[in-house]
Amino acid sequence: MYTVTIDRDACDGVFACLVRDDRFVEDADGLAAIEVDDEHAIAATFDDDHRGDAEQAADACPLDAITVEDAETDAPPQTLEPTEAGR
Ligand code: SF4
Repeated sequence: MYTVTIDRDACDGVFACLVRDDRFVEDADGLAAIEVDDEHAIAATFDDDHRGDAEQAADACPLDAITVEDAETDAPPQTLEPTEAGR
């Protein structure tokens, strides 16, 4: 189990992450988000075999805005509020 987090203060919408891991999407405000169950999140925990994809996205991010770390609990995704996302 692992958690993927996007530091939206660091993200500058370069979108190198999108081509490495298709869970990363462009949010309405032009920054990256993680798509989970049709919601946009800034942090989400996964229990699958795609950790390598997320780590490639993190390595590709020129601003080091993506963190991939071990997770001990299946915490609910931290979804973006519509106002925060500019929707
Ligand atoms: S690669 Fe990094 S800076 Fe670019 S959109 Fe993704 S998270 Fe943001």
